[in-house]
Amino acid sequence: MDVNAYSAEIQKLIQDVQDSRGKDPQITINCCRELEQYGLSLNDNALIGFARFSLGETYYLMNDTANFYREMVLCLEPLKQIKEWGYLTMANNMLGIMSLNRGNAPFAMDYYMQAVRYCQEYRLPDLEWVVHMNMGNLYLNIGNPDNALVHFESGYQYINHHKKAENYVSTRTAACIGLGKAYLMRGEAALAEEYDHILERECMPHLLPMEKLVVYCFKARLYHEQNRHEECEACIGEIRNTFTADVPVLDVFDDLYDFTDMLLTTEHYDDYLFMYKAMEEPTRRTGIRNLEKKLLVLKLKYCKATDNLVDYAANAMEYFELDQLMEQEVGMMISNTIELRSRLNELTNITKEVELENRVLQAKSETDALTGMYNRLKLSEYADEAFVRSMKNHSSLAIEILDIDYFKEFNDNYGHQAGDKCIWFVANSIQALTKYEGVFCARYGGDEFVIIYEGYTDKEVFGMAQELKRTIVNAAFEHAYSKVAIKLVTISQGIFWGIPEGGQSPWNYLHAADALLYKVKKKSRNSIMLGHSMDGEDDEILSEDGE
Ligand code: GH3
Ligand code: MG
Repeated sequence: MDVNAYSAEIQKLIQDVQDSRGKDPQITINCCRELEQYGLSLNDNALIGFARFSLGETYYLMNDTANFYREMVLCLEPLKQIKEWGYLTMANNMLGIMSLNRGNAPFAMDYYMQAVRYCQEYRLPDLEWVVHMNMGNLYLNIGNPDNALVHFESGYQYINHHKKAENYVSTRTAACIGLGKAYLMRGEAALAEEYDHILERECMPHLLPMEKLVVYCFKARLYHEQNRHEECEACIGEIRNTFTADVPVLDVFDDLYDFTDMLLTTEHYDDYLFMYKAMEEPTRRTGIRNLEKKLLVLKLKYCKATDNLVDYAANAMEYFELDQLMEQEVGMMISNTIELRSRLNELTNITKEVELENRVLQAKSETDALTGMYNRLKLSEYADEAFVRSMKNHSSLAIEILDIDYFKEFNDNYGHQAGDKCIWFVANSIQALTKYEGVFCARYGGDEFVIIYEGYTDKEVFGMAQELKRTIVNAAFEHAYSKVAIKLVTISQGIFWGIPEGGQSPWNYLHAADALLYKVKKKSRNSIMLGHSMDGEDDEILSEDGE
């Protein structure tokens, strides 16, 4: 988006969005709404796409599902129109994460795959690996470690080749944990251990306590699998010490969940209760029923393991109710998305219809209703272009004006309708010349027409003009009231030929041609006159006399 192309007011709104994003959601939302309105009134997809994407991103950070979906889905089409593949990738990636968190893996997969397609088609490797990591997590989520490995491996390879990347260590950590977890899921602890070594040696020394938490979750599970009890206990201790109320539970939910699940199976009930309590409130605060439901599964497992059937029944009821609510939510998400998508299709179709209508209107405004030929408006535009082209190429340009002889007499005697037919017949004969490259013709008005010849010698132009004259005479369109001896419809032609120079305009050519036509009419109708000099003096004239 070229920000400088916009008015100061719009530029300020864009700046305010950039400054407030991720900090003050209300300001971002207000500015985006204004920008979207400007975009809609200016029919500017860059503004509309940017505003909706930023709104979607803001709602994503606010965890506001309904608003997030609306804006993110609606930003896709305008972004596609302006070919913003990077933003499109990020939008699809966020839609994927949101869908997966809400328990809709198929939707998430659909969005991630679209994001990867953009990355591959438009070469966006620095975004592609992010999507691969998310796809890896999705596959772990649905219990498919084989596919998860493929995607984590892509992410891992990418970061290995980009050691200077800003968040190299945390990305490498995420990739190692992903690969380690996938191998654990496959029951290949020895392979998972290799990634533990890398984590220990290369990542741990550089990580923040919060980042270490996730590594310990993985380590604890690995050591448990390998019966390294002491080390496992040490990791559990580390986690309990690091866990504080501000752990971003939503970002690391799966890791904490798997770890807590392990505590249950290993009968670390005390630690389990600690983790459960620590996760309960932040999970509830996310408002994501899918996560609340998952957490409840841990509680149910605990009640069962400790034979507490009363609590088990109460929690089972809660689980059932949550499940009902979630089903409604997923249903709503699917129908909203489908409705938004079909609205988009409709909008795309409307846009196409409007474009088609505009093209028809445009064509109408450029052509003459009676003959279907280009009109004076198009002539003026074309003449300018042809003139500039010829001047640049130092090539020749000829402009001809031709006029039907004694047309007034034709009209007065045969009637206006017959006159129309005659004009139509002449127009048709002229149009035939467009079979030659670089020949353009238009109706100038009344019984006058203009022909522009680009890149021909004067002799060649004269030849084509003669050919036209012959075509018209040979058609033998009767004109008993013409003063031309053959009593047929004839034309007179004035042509100016030259090589355009600076300081001239196509209108100089047209006026010179008009002067030649006037000359020819005075001398003898049914004639052609081709001149080369602007002032008409000392001119070498190619001429064919008729009458
Ligand atoms: P000249 O040989 O000198 O060209 O004489 P002319 O009679 O052809 O020239 P003049 O300009 O006097 O007459 C042109 C006539 O064309 C006048 C007008 O009534 C008629 N005319 C202009 N536009 C149309 C049109 O669209 N249809 C019909 N039927 N007649 C038109
Ligand atoms: Mg005439």
